[in-house]
Amino acid sequence: MRLDVITIFPEYLDPLRHALLGRAIERGILDVAVHDLRSWTHDVHKAVDDTPYGGGPGMVMKPTVWGPALDDVAALTGPAADGLRLDSAHPHVAADDVPEPDAPGGRDDRPVLVVPTPAGRPFTQATAERWATEERLVFACGRYEGIDQRVFEDAGERYRVEEVSLGDYVLIGGEVAVLVMAEAVVRLIPGVLGNRRSHEEDSFQDGLLEGPSYTKPRVWRDREVPAVLLSGDHAKVDRWRRDQALLRTAAVRPELVEALEHDGRLDGHDRSVLEGTAE
Ligand code: SAM
Repeated sequence: MRLDVITIFPEYLDPLRHALLGRAIERGILDVAVHDLRSWTHDVHKAVDDTPYGGGPGMVMKPTVWGPALDDVAALTGPAADGLRLDSAHPHVAADDVPEPDAPGGRDDRPVLVVPTPAGRPFTQATAERWATEERLVFACGRYEGIDQRVFEDAGERYRVEEVSLGDYVLIGGEVAVLVMAEAVVRLIPGVLGNRRSHEEDSFQDGLLEGPSYTKPRVWRDREVPAVLLSGDHAKVDRWRRDQALLRTAAVRPELVEALEHDGRLDGHDRSVLEGTAE
């Protein structure tokens, strides 16, 4: 997968070079290019924003800068041809642990243009799963009051545009949102996590939040690990984990349990756990 990020703060994306993402870069699973939006300005001040039509506070990012930037990043031409390619921050894998590249596929090769904005559709685990199968994601980091809307109407000719929100709050810029989304997506790419089951059992994979986890020692500050986890009975452990996931989800995200009930994904035992009548 290739990620391109367009931003006025390229250094903000440096965390993409670390840990699992840095390892994915080293192994050739991930390629990350960061582009400084100011490369597409033509004035001495390198201005990327201007006052809003209709009045009001703040500034809006200019279509005359974003349009050419997105054209070049789609085609990898102009300043985008030599955007800053991130390498891994430090070695994470042995040289002989690098996988063979996949054969090219025959799918829609227009990249997805991800536009972080509080006015977008919610970014969820389902979004991350969908994007994890893409060959290219391009992220447009807004600042100030955001980007002139015509930029995205126009970009629809070269990209599949998706406006997405991290949640019902307002950040200062799109860079942190990109870091969040890139982590959520890249860890789902086959080969990135050491153990595939790690994400198959994560929160949201089955519509529930994950229950509590424990490690050694068995007793810590007089608190014991639940006995079932030491039983060696895998069926019992799985049932206990699902019960805990159901109870936690019902307590903090009841709407997720309602959605499972609505979709017919709760069985009789699940219901008895939720009603407190399970044995
Ligand atoms: N005027 C915008 C509004 O009210 O919808 C807020 C702009 S915000 C100050 C600047 C940038 O931060 C946005 O263009 C976007 O890139 C990013 N941003 C802020 N909140 C976000 C959120 N909840 N999800 C994703 N991106 C967000």
